[in-house]
Amino acid sequence: MSHVVLNGVTKRYGPHVALDAVDVSVAKGEMLALLGPSGCGKTTLLRCIAGLNDADAGTISIGGADVTRMPARKRPIGMVFQSYALFPNLSAAKNIAFPLTVRRRERRAAAARVEELLALVGLEEHGHKLPNQLSGGQQQRVALARALAPDPEVLLLDEPLSALDAQVRTRLRDEVRRIQHQVGITTVFVTHDQSEALAISDRVAVMNAGRIEQCATPPEVYAAPSTRFAAGFVGNRNTLELPVADGRVAWGEAFDVEAPSGDRALCLFRPEDVEIGADGPGLAATVDVKVFLGAVTRVYATHDGTTVFADVPSRSAAGLSDGQEVFVRVAPDHVQVFPA
Ligand code: ATP
Repeated sequence: MSHVVLNGVTKRYGPHVALDAVDVSVAKGEMLALLGPSGCGKTTLLRCIAGLNDADAGTISIGGADVTRMPARKRPIGMVFQSYALFPNLSAAKNIAFPLTVRRRERRAAAARVEELLALVGLEEHGHKLPNQLSGGQQQRVALARALAPDPEVLLLDEPLSALDAQVRTRLRDEVRRIQHQVGITTVFVTHDQSEALAISDRVAVMNAGRIEQCATPPEVYAAPSTRFAAGFVGNRNTLELPVADGRVAWGEAFDVEAPSGDRALCLFRPEDVEIGADGPGLAATVDVKVFLGAVTRVYATHDGTTVFADVPSRSAAGLSDGQEVFVRVAPDHVQVFPA
């Protein structure tokens, strides 16, 4: 069942179209990531759902009710920002209690709810501390608990992890996912970090220039990008522009696939899908350099001035040396082809 539905949502800033007739829906209890480069409209879309931006056209509904003209404070949403936005002079517990006191909840019920939320985000021992006595990750947990306090229908997260350092960030990412599952709350999560989007969400909406280019599960977006942009933005890919002949495009004996119309085609394939063998079949190439990455080793190989990179299990890559002649091949169904 669709819980949040956007239909034709458009937002302009002067002549600039920040959102171009966006249609998207989020199922009840689902976590949707909005993923895209800086300026593609992710935050604008989130702010339209929150009611912090007015859409110029289109409609937004939450739980079947049209909220397009509803002011932000009346919408059943909780929001977490990149900057935490905690009240610096209030303890963690009082920050979390704030939306409850504003709503005049009975005091004892509010206190119990604050305890429950502190436990949910793993801060039982820290309720009395001021924000500046907490780490960045802890402050963001407080912000998350505060957003959940009034029991909103929908949680909106705007790059909530981007101010944190890498290790804390990964831990809190998984923690956000656990909490979201536990609470079962419909969530929209903005990020420009593809690994974050793939790790945390049920579906990813890949955005570019005010539009959603693809909206699908992480494995689908990763393995079968529907547009050239999605293919280039999600994951690492080799990109070769090759001539089309008789409706097919080939890179020597490495692969030969059906081509779209046009004289030339772009062929994209992932480094883990490139096989490198000491023997054929395949296209003869020379190993330029190997980069040890842990479980895999990235092997750069060149044929006739064209270089591709392959992620080879490090155990197999140990047998390859710089300057060695090898054979490169890619299974046809691992090559995505777009018009050049
Ligand atoms: P980032 O990851 O950098 O936050 P984003 O994808 O969230 O990017 P938005 O903040 O939604 O992008 O902005 C989309 C476009 O709209 C950008 O080109 C931005 O410059 C423009 N924009 C956003 N807010 C305003 C505003 N208040 N006035 C004018 N232009 C704006």
